[in-house]
Amino acid sequence: MPLSGAQWVALYPTSTSVSDLELDFRTSLNNFLAALTAAGASYTIAATLRPPERAYLMHWSYRVARENYDPRQVPAMTGVNIDWVHKRPNGSYDETASRSAANAMTTSYGTVYRPSLTSRHTEGRAVDMNLSWSGTLRIRNAQGQEVSIGSTPRSGANTDLHDVGASYGVVKLVSDPPHWSDDGH
Ligand SMILES: [Zn+2]
Repeated sequence: MPLSGAQWVALYPTSTSVSDLELDFRTSLNNFLAALTAAGASYTIAATLRPPERAYLMHWSYRVARENYDPRQVPAMTGVNIDWVHKRPNGSYDETASRSAANAMTTSYGTVYRPSLTSRHTEGRAVDMNLSWSGTLRIRNAQGQEVSIGSTPRSGANTDLHDVGASYGVVKLVSDPPHWSDDGH
C-alpha cells in the first residue's frame, strides 16, 4: 500500500462547483446566488463538496501528527489505499517517520483544528464563499420582496444579508466567515 505523505493532499480535491452539491441545497444556493448577481453583488466560491475520503485523510493525519494518535491504530477507509505505518529497512515500526509523514500532510492541508470526519461539506450541504458589493445592495429575498441593505460590512458578514440568505435556505454560520449551509452548521 502507498505510504502516507504529502502526495496524498492532491487527491480527492474539494470541489468549488455548485453542481456537486446535494439537490435541495444546490437549488437553494443557486437561487440565492442568482439574487446576488441580479443585485450587482460579486461572489467567489472557495469550497462546496469535500469528499469523505479527503475528510478521512485530513482527520487522521492531524490526529497522528498533532494528537499523538498511534498510526498503527488508524482505521482503514474503503477505497483509500493508504498505509499510515512507516517501517525501517529491517521491518520494525518507525514512529518518527510515521508521524513526520502525517505532519507533512497536515501542514500541506493547512489544518489548524482537528477536521471532522463528517460535516455539511462532506454531505454536500455547505458552501464557503466570499461576497462583496458597493453602495446599497437592493436584493430580492425568496418571497420576492426587495430588501435594501445599506449597512456594513459589504460582505458575507452582513447580518441583514444573513436574513436574505436564510429566506432562500442558505444559512450563515457566523463563527466561520466564509461558511453557509442548509442549517447553519
Ligand atoms: Zn465551510
